[in-house]
Amino acid sequence: MSNMHAKAPAPVEIVEVGPRDGLQSQPTLIDTATKLAFIERLIAAGVKRMEVVSFVNPKRVPQMADADEVLRSLPQRPDLRYIGLVLNARGFERAVEAGLREINTVVVATETFSQRNQGMPVSAIMDSVAVIAREARSAGITCGVTLSAAFGCPYEGRVAPAHVVELAGRLLDLGIDEIGLADTIGVAVPSHVDHLVGEINRIRGEVPLRLHFHNTRNTAVANVYAALLAGVRIFDASCGGVGGCPFAPGATGNVATEDLLYLFANMGYDSGVSMEGIIETTHWLEGPLGASLPAALSRASRFPPAA
Ligand code: MG
Repeated sequence: MSNMHAKAPAPVEIVEVGPRDGLQSQPTLIDTATKLAFIERLIAAGVKRMEVVSFVNPKRVPQMADADEVLRSLPQRPDLRYIGLVLNARGFERAVEAGLREINTVVVATETFSQRNQGMPVSAIMDSVAVIAREARSAGITCGVTLSAAFGCPYEGRVAPAHVVELAGRLLDLGIDEIGLADTIGVAVPSHVDHLVGEINRIRGEVPLRLHFHNTRNTAVANVYAALLAGVRIFDASCGGVGGCPFAPGATGNVATEDLLYLFANMGYDSGVSMEGIIETTHWLEGPLGASLPAALSRASRFPPAA
């Protein structure tokens, strides 16, 4: 046995987004009991923080129509953190009514995508996020904000890091609890990640930075590695790699949780999540979805092999 990782593993945090981001884009409608079974399996695998619902118009996103019911039925434990995605004032009201303690909201980094995805210019979203962040703070609700399409936009192409840094600065001025960068259409490469994370690190102070990668062009794990080296310790991932974004053309594939776990475990980072538990959950989830999931680790042989 090599002692290359003799020092204590460094902690990393996985935010499991399968139940929300992952399921949201699935064509098969998943019932509430199956969603709860999925979440319970993730918890059993050691997941402590996960995005479980979004409070969106059920006509637009039928998969999330049972958000309130899902939240009412979740196991409650002091070490579990559930996040609800909130996109507007009405969504925030629903999150408060549901007793949620943590929300995430989104600002799209480009005008065209913002108009097409949220139906509003970036400036109007910023105003709305400012109100949500203020109300969350006074209600004692943790509020993170993700800049989506932070690396590339399906309509405008490459997004200038300076533009993302400017938007991030405005968000940080609101006193948010966490800042996220999402590669919504999976176009980032490690050098881009290194540069943008370095720039955000200069301005974020103690505010945690969370990265969300898609494996659309097979660069997600490489991007996570670049972000790790740049000091990021919080990563979104979805069990099996389930999901994309239903409103971004061709945007498939959140980076798979088990694929990150393999990287982390073998590089001396500890997320507290069981790779075996996630792989088993991926195989289980393929049943109700009626489709196979893209995670590499769930197709690979065990390594190291069992003694
Ligand atoms: Mg995603």
